[in-house]
Amino acid sequence: MQQAILGFSQDEQGHWVAQLACGHGRHVRHDPPWTLREWVTTEQGRSQWVGRLLECSKCDAEQLGQGGAA
Ligand SMILES: [Zn+2]
Repeated sequence: MQQAILGFSQDEQGHWVAQLACGHGRHVRHDPPWTLREWVTTEQGRSQWVGRLLECSKCDAEQLGQGGAA
C-alpha cells in the first residue's frame, strides 16, 4: 500500500526511517552498492521526499492478516 512520507527520523544505529502517513516507519538506508539513496543523507534531499509516496509493506501485511474481517 502506498503511503505519503510525513518526515524522517533516525534509529539508534543512525539509519534513516521515513515516517509514513499510516503511522508506520520504513527504513530508507543508503547502503551502496546495493541500495543507492544518497538523497537520504542530506537535509535537502530528505525534504524533497516529504509528501511523496512509499510502499508500506507493514500495511500490506496487516491487510493480509485481516482477511475475512468486517
Ligand atoms: Zn503502513
